[in-house]
Amino acid sequence: MFSKIKKAYQLFKSIDFEQLDKLSRKIDLPKAMESFSQLDDKQLKGLMKMLEGGEPKKELPPINSDFYELHLRLDDEDRALQLRVREFMEREIRPLVNHYWLRDEFPFEIIPKLAELDICGLTYKGYGCAGRSSLMEGIIAMEIARIDASVATFFGVQSGLAMGSIYLCGSDEQKQEWLPAMQQMKLIGAFGLTEPEVGSGAAGGLTVTAHKTDKGWVLNGQKKWIGNAPFADVTIIWAKDVGDGEVKGFLVRKGTPGFEVEKIKGKMALRIVQNGLITLTDCIVPESDRLQHANSFKDTAKVLQLTRAGVAWMAVGCACGAYENALDYTRKRKQFGKPIASFQLIQNHLVEMLSNLTAMQALVYRLSELQDTGMLRDEHASLAKVFCTLRTRDIVSQAREVMGGNGILLEYDVARFLADAEAIYSYEGTKEINSLIVGRSITGFSAFV
Ligand SMILES: Cc1cc2nc3c(=O)[nH]c(=O)nc-3n(C[C@H](O)[C@H](O)[C@H](O)COP(=O)(O)OP(=O)(O)OC[C@H]3O[C@@H](n4cnc5c(N)ncnc54)[C@H](O)[C@@H]3O)c2cc1C
Repeated sequence: MFSKIKKAYQLFKSIDFEQLDKLSRKIDLPKAMESFSQLDDKQLKGLMKMLEGGEPKKELPPINSDFYELHLRLDDEDRALQLRVREFMEREIRPLVNHYWLRDEFPFEIIPKLAELDICGLTYKGYGCAGRSSLMEGIIAMEIARIDASVATFFGVQSGLAMGSIYLCGSDEQKQEWLPAMQQMKLIGAFGLTEPEVGSGAAGGLTVTAHKTDKGWVLNGQKKWIGNAPFADVTIIWAKDVGDGEVKGFLVRKGTPGFEVEKIKGKMALRIVQNGLITLTDCIVPESDRLQHANSFKDTAKVLQLTRAGVAWMAVGCACGAYENALDYTRKRKQFGKPIASFQLIQNHLVEMLSNLTAMQALVYRLSELQDTGMLRDEHASLAKVFCTLRTRDIVSQAREVMGGNGILLEYDVARFLADAEAIYSYEGTKEINSLIVGRSITGFSAFV
């Protein structure tokens, strides 16, 4: 009772009678007072809030896709690099990706800026490379993909597939010639394995041929989907030696006669990545440009093992980006007078996304530990690639769902993640092929054909 009197007194004290006079000429004040007197405490509070301009601003928790704080496993130097890459991606890349994605073009201006970060070929030892951990390399792939999966793919082709082929299969002279310049991104590489008619079956069925002659190796055939190929300075071409039937790798330089690249148009995913259809017509490559330690597909597979781990990390990054965007959106978007993040069904989506994301993160951290201790096997990388790309598909689709119509608008970013997840799901071995690799390892039976 006392509190009611006190409130009424305070209200009375704060009345501006001049204003009240003006108001009384506009509305029937006694009637209004009568209506107010019938309101209970809660209703009065609500009315006051409405008059004050709605709910007071609530301090919301920070958006953090590293829910289990896995970054605490990093030392200070690695954490600083992670944050540097994150800040760079936010500042330099985020503002321009949708523009280029829509136009199916590559932002060449980012290459020298990415080079300044000094993160290319991070795990290789020597040749200008830093010799750092696979874990750090994975984290960088995640941070890049968190903003854009196309830029992460461009970077993965350069740093992983192209440089990795030279690092693992090249002679010392070949490494000296290519790796330092590629590390600084002064030279860009591509990796040509897939063919128009041979995708998953590359291990046994390449149709591009390499014929040794007095003039050098003569390459013939086609390669499809080759990332960076339309502008690369060097493309690693994997071809079957007609002499011994084994797969060999060749460094094909830009402008080599008989090497033609046509840009693949009309992609609905990773539109910034420039993929090429390569036609090799009596393309001559000297013996000095044959990768000296690539003697069979087993050597190609060593490169793929390395990069499949990177693709798993990339999928995690793509999922982080989609989750963070979706969470942010649901806290700002209001329906029925409330942020949609306050609805139970929306929270269920967000928690499912975070659960998958956290499981993926824990898995790739362990994957990199296996890699860093020399214990990584093909099936480890394949399992991570399958699991992470599958779950990423779920996460991006839930992110799109909680954003309603805006989820399919490019300007809200999630539409790009949604489309790009499809390509990550298919390249570097489809779900089926990577599952067959794991299946063979756990059952002891190969079920490839
Ligand atoms: C955006 C993008 C970028 C790429 N970049 C590169 C690159 O830089 N360099 C490069 O060399 N390649 C690249 N690729 C190619 C990529 O690696 C292949 O697309 C992938 O390996 C699958 O091959 P495919 O598309 O020919 O599908 P296919 O092999 O024709 O497969 C079609 C379907 O059949 C299934 N399948 C095939 N065999 C089996 C089997 N034995 N059992 C069960 N199911 C099976 C597959 O899983 C898939 O679902 C890229 C692809 C994309 C989409």
